[in-house]
Amino acid sequence: MIANPIQRIEIWPIDVPITDPFVVATGSRVTAQNLFMRVTLRDGTSGYGEAAPFPEVGGEDRTSCLATATTLGPFLIGQSTGDYQAIADQLREEAPCFPAARCGLETALLDAHARSLRIPLWQLWGSADVRDRETDITIPICDLDKTLDLARGWYAKGFRLFKMKVGKDVEEDIRRLETVHHALPNIGFIGDGNQGFSREDCIRFVNGVQRFGGRLVLLEQPVIREDLEGLQAIRHLTGVPVAADESVRSLNDARRIVELQAADYINIKIMKTGVMEALRIAAFARSAGLRLMIGGMVETRIAMGCSFSLVLGHGGFDVLDLDTPLLLSTDPIQGGYHYSGPLLHPWHEPGLAMQSSCPSTCTVIQ
Ligand SMILES: [Mg+2]
Repeated sequence: MIANPIQRIEIWPIDVPITDPFVVATGSRVTAQNLFMRVTLRDGTSGYGEAAPFPEVGGEDRTSCLATATTLGPFLIGQSTGDYQAIADQLREEAPCFPAARCGLETALLDAHARSLRIPLWQLWGSADVRDRETDITIPICDLDKTLDLARGWYAKGFRLFKMKVGKDVEEDIRRLETVHHALPNIGFIGDGNQGFSREDCIRFVNGVQRFGGRLVLLEQPVIREDLEGLQAIRHLTGVPVAADESVRSLNDARRIVELQAADYINIKIMKTGVMEALRIAAFARSAGLRLMIGGMVETRIAMGCSFSLVLGHGGFDVLDLDTPLLLSTDPIQGGYHYSGPLLHPWHEPGLAMQSSCPSTCTVIQ
């Protein structure tokens, strides 16, 4: 007999405008078109989740995400949130190709579970590293003036690690970094190619940045996801640490990276794998001697709060790319963690400690 089973799931679309068009090598967005989800238990405790599909990366869009979450939802009804690992495994078996949809349901059920235990979500993972953490800030692909304008604005707010979206035009990429480098002292760069570079282009890019003295701390997914030999060659030829992002969408992908020594970091994203699988990959990567980065798609503070919970609870994350709520023109959530400049501050209330209102037109499963 389950004491406090899952009784109701609500799912609704949420559109949040992005302040400046989010342009990367593989696609662009002007609005985050996500789904919010709420799981409610028999005693009235509820938890929130978010699905943030990015079609060019994961192949999911909001329509397919909603259809998948609606199909998977009934499976959760009547279950105990304490069985979250088994439920996550079963969801993955049912819908392996819909990680964002699964991630939304998993997050909501984990949030409800932590709230029913009266502990913050991060405490569920062990409270390994509870402190304020600094995030990088993303500069999308845009012209020189806009790049400089955005970088100056973030710099004034305290940001020092700039994640530059690159990979469309090497010479222009080098010019963009050079312009920012000369304008702003004491900064570092992550170059995120989103699979857009050839090996040769990437090496030209690194040489170009080194020529003007730019501090390139990380190269993220410079080449297409299948080209693990390319990642391996780039890290050895340039000496710059490489992070595998699109190349790792499962534990097996992470194993391949380790076998081929193709990366220094794995970029963990709950939208690529679901929450519990992300934790498995993180634990495996660390045990294999790799370092951890954590990022997201274009997410609000709900999904990003779940990722921040992994950072605080699991520990071992060196590079945080948890900035997308700052790129949105509104924040549709109350409560939870908050930002001051580049710092994310932990919360101490149960679950994710967030609230958002559900419209009367939402999809209901009960
Ligand atoms: Mg990336």
